[in-house]
Amino acid sequence: MNPDRPTSMSSEQAATLERLAQVRAGCARAALESGRTPEQVSLICVSKTFDAGAIRPVLEAGHRVFGENRVQEAYGKWPQLREEYSDVALHLIGPLQSNKARDAVALFDVIHTLDRPSLAAALAKEIERAGRAPTLLIQVNTGEEPQKGGVAPRDADRFIQLCREEFGLAPSGLMCIPPASDAPSPHFALLSMIAQRNGLGLLSMGMSSDYEQAIMLGATHVRVGSAIFGTR
Ligand SMILES: *Cc1c(COP(=O)(O)O)cnc(C)c1O
Repeated sequence: MNPDRPTSMSSEQAATLERLAQVRAGCARAALESGRTPEQVSLICVSKTFDAGAIRPVLEAGHRVFGENRVQEAYGKWPQLREEYSDVALHLIGPLQSNKARDAVALFDVIHTLDRPSLAAALAKEIERAGRAPTLLIQVNTGEEPQKGGVAPRDADRFIQLCREEFGLAPSGLMCIPPASDAPSPHFALLSMIAQRNGLGLLSMGMSSDYEQAIMLGATHVRVGSAIFGTR
């Protein structure tokens, strides 16, 4: 018996599970409407800023796919949670510094934010060294916002090719974060188009406010935080 585990659920934890069920249902509905099965769309529960106490009920409910945006923060909670729930899949959805590539490759199953040659080089080196290859997604800055990571849409084809040919990496898909002020759908459609013409199967797009739209436009992974865990 885990001494940290609460014997009864708090109302906040119960609310989280209710919201999780609603988001799951929304994902399933959108998947079916887009001609896919619910299993073909992966819901990443974004647990950044939430501690193990908030995350544990979601694990207890059987969910196993989580997203964090900081390597350091993820190390503060996930190694221990993984001792209890060994089949957790962890996604890094935030910017990655090259000097954290080693830690990221060791902890994460999927890295969504490959966006520059220096990081591609660092990841290639660590994957080789560790003998462990997380699934890699390339972030595209579809809104070309200066403060956001990601390759510009016009540079995406070239960067994908560079990852493959220069660094021997095999990116599996693309990720984007549309500008908060824009309608997201054109960004999702652009990301899908870039993925298709480069033979990439995975699309990480859609957050709390727009995950259903993203699924309708082909998302294979949605990253949902506040709609499940509450406001940060
Ligand atoms: C925080 C975050 C999310 C989740 O955002 P919500 O609006 O809380 O669902 C998704 N993607 C990235 C990259 C994030 O940093």
